[in-house]
Amino acid sequence: MTKPSAATSADVLVLGAGIAGLAAARTLADKGLSVIVLEARSRIGGRMWTDSSLGMPLDLGASWIHGVNGNPITKLAKQFGAKTVRTNDENSIVFHADGGEMTDAEWAEMEALFEEIYEEVASMQEDTDEDTSLQEAFDVVLMEYDLSEEQLRRLNYYAYQVTALEYGADMKDLSLWWWDQDEEFGGEEVIFPDGYSQITDGLAQGLDIRLGKVVKTVRYGSDGVEVETSAGSFVADKAVVTFPLGVLKQASVEFEPPLPESKQAAIDRLAMGVLNKVYLKFPEVFWDEGVETINYIGEELGEWCDWLSFVPFTGEAVLMAFHGGDKGFALEDLSDEEIRAGAMKTLRVMFGDDIPEPEGMLVTRWGKDPFAFGAYSHIPPFASGEDYDALFEPVDDVLYFAGEATSREYPSTVHGAYLSGVAAVGEM
Ligand SMILES: Cc1cc2nc3c(=O)[nH]c(=O)nc-3n(C[C@H](O)[C@H](O)[C@H](O)COP(=O)(O)OP(=O)(O)OC[C@H]3O[C@@H](n4cnc5c(N)ncnc54)[C@H](O)[C@@H]3O)c2cc1C
Repeated sequence: MTKPSAATSADVLVLGAGIAGLAAARTLADKGLSVIVLEARSRIGGRMWTDSSLGMPLDLGASWIHGVNGNPITKLAKQFGAKTVRTNDENSIVFHADGGEMTDAEWAEMEALFEEIYEEVASMQEDTDEDTSLQEAFDVVLMEYDLSEEQLRRLNYYAYQVTALEYGADMKDLSLWWWDQDEEFGGEEVIFPDGYSQITDGLAQGLDIRLGKVVKTVRYGSDGVEVETSAGSFVADKAVVTFPLGVLKQASVEFEPPLPESKQAAIDRLAMGVLNKVYLKFPEVFWDEGVETINYIGEELGEWCDWLSFVPFTGEAVLMAFHGGDKGFALEDLSDEEIRAGAMKTLRVMFGDDIPEPEGMLVTRWGKDPFAFGAYSHIPPFASGEDYDALFEPVDDVLYFAGEATSREYPSTVHGAYLSGVAAVGEM
């Protein structure tokens, strides 16, 4: 490749300053290579984003270290002196659609019903000749049951919690065979009361990161790589590509020559789901101060059904609600005012008409975010875990790939993205 004279050069270019890109850049810099990180946004961190506009640090992207035992992020948290606090989703209160509280016995019954049905669904993972959606498998099993409307609503609510709110996709969009193929670290779930960005900030120290550089074209060949951005060109021997799957699917970055067929097919097959957060800051706490999670099994599945209280973690009168899958995408089409009204309507059902209006609100719209196009990847029907491997596969010893959607073991997580960045450098 003829290096354009106006281009800035480095040994390796890292495209994207999320956790995967920062992990790759850190590892390369520690090996003594010259590295430039090119980032489209005016901030680092990507889908790890601590916002302080409500007067306290609140995470708009990732919040948790999912399983602290053996998790590389636990080590980084210690290294950077970032405080973590354990969360316990069993410390919860559950409301029926009419605002009445669910008893422990009712919850146990709902859980047992789900587990019984899921056992049969799980056996279909082994027994079916062709993949289908998780929803279709549930529907087949449900034909053997004669459930009341209320039982069905509770079951759907429970299923929504373990699918849409974790995988960012509804059951109809998840592969029966592969949806839960990911691995987990054991141990506690913890959050960062002072924000997850402490991890990305710690990794970024001393790195050459160029913000506001939207990558438009990646030209690569046997003699290196040339990257054209919205503000200048960069050349290097190699590049680590960490664009989110959503960005690759939109083809908003051009690769010349086009990516190999096997990688492109994996990009096309895998899917990007969504999880959106709504934070509400109140003048006072009007809910039980000791409770962490507030669940609502409303008439409309997935609407305002899952809330986290920040009182136990930070003492702040803040509630955060999640919307995942189709409900998460639908939320993005509402105005902030409509979202606030929807939230307050549900809170009034649970806590009465006298509760105060919020003083501040934050809403995420990850599906519309032009540098993410979704929250994280999942495996829809007919895709497979192997597609994550295909995404990771380097091209021509020049392009290396990292990011949550290149991690077959730990997709859609911070630790998966981090480990993929380190692993991409290991391939060089
Ligand atoms: C709402 C939400 C909640 C989550 N909760 C958790 C959680 O609790 N725990 C957990 O482990 N994980 C969670 N995740 C997932 C986790 O945040 C991601 O898996 C991880 O941060 C992805 O890191 P990454 O480096 O692969 O991608 P990103 O962080 O998206 O980094 C990619 C970077 O590339 C940049 N980029 C994109 N296009 C271009 C371009 N054209 N030119 C230049 N730069 C570009 C982006 O701006 C971004 O900075 C959550 C995600 C979301 C959205």
